[in-house]
Amino acid sequence: MDSEKPEGPQLCGWCGMGIHDGMEVHGMAPDSSVTHASDPARDGQRFLTSCSREHLAALQEHYRHRPGG
Ligand SMILES: [Zn+2]
Repeated sequence: MDSEKPEGPQLCGWCGMGIHDGMEVHGMAPDSSVTHASDPARDGQRFLTSCSREHLAALQEHYRHRPGG
């Protein structure tokens, strides 16, 4: 399921707004619950998609403060 490309616009991980093509902002955040299927180097890193740099920063802040990481 993870390998399927989602149809339609991507959604901001912070506010849930649909993101126009080419406007999305990507980043990584530390997340100990993530294990990558094919690339162990990416274990513990969550791939983030957001509508703006501000919301990407908010998401990264959110994961940074999650307990257990
Ligand atoms: Zn957003």
